[in-house]
Amino acid sequence: MKRAVILLSGGLDSVTTLAIAKQQGFDCYTLSFDYGQRHDAELVAAKKLSIQMGAIEHKVINIDLRSIGGSALTDTTIDVPDHHEAGIPVTYVPARNTVFLSIALGWAEVLQAHAIFVGVNAVDYSGYPDCRPEYINAFEKLANLATKAGVEGQYLHIHTPLIDLTKSQIIQQGIALGVDYSQTISCYQADNEGRACGQCDSCRFRQQGFEQAGISDPTYYQKQI
Ligand code: ZN
Repeated sequence: MKRAVILLSGGLDSVTTLAIAKQQGFDCYTLSFDYGQRHDAELVAAKKLSIQMGAIEHKVINIDLRSIGGSALTDTTIDVPDHHEAGIPVTYVPARNTVFLSIALGWAEVLQAHAIFVGVNAVDYSGYPDCRPEYINAFEKLANLATKAGVEGQYLHIHTPLIDLTKSQIIQQGIALGVDYSQTISCYQADNEGRACGQCDSCRFRQQGFEQAGISDPTYYQKQI
């Protein structure tokens, strides 16, 4: 039995991560969060792709981070910027990966899974502190101190297969594994049909990735760009 919990937002990175976990022979249990993000389109994509890509089970956890706010993604009074900001941008969601990984850790213990996969990336990314390798290493240490499974010697690994890859390398790897990127949603402010704005940081990293990979961009945009 080789089980893994995969954090799945429905975006390009997390869906590629799911494909990699599957290729490595894991039985995949996908976990998404309805945390009050600006649109539901990514949750729809995560569910659809989980089924298509053969996940054993897909779970959506409701945890409304709008109640603490503090991010352009969880507070509608803060605009999503259409240009790259210096420093950590306002799209950073306070402690989001710590919240998500903690719940993934709980589910992994219930499933007797010894692996959590998360599609964090330290190359083409927005400078979020909870995407850095040192953060992931620290969380893995905490995870093994925090659980009954850890105390009983069942070591849990946090797998970050994308951490050192550029966006174009991620896309190339996903294409080789048969990922259908037209169904993934990366945009911070996609519309109800899942069409991307083409302006936000996440859209720009995605566009550049397809360009650099020499692969035509299958993203559905709100307007021709
Ligand atoms: Zn966008």
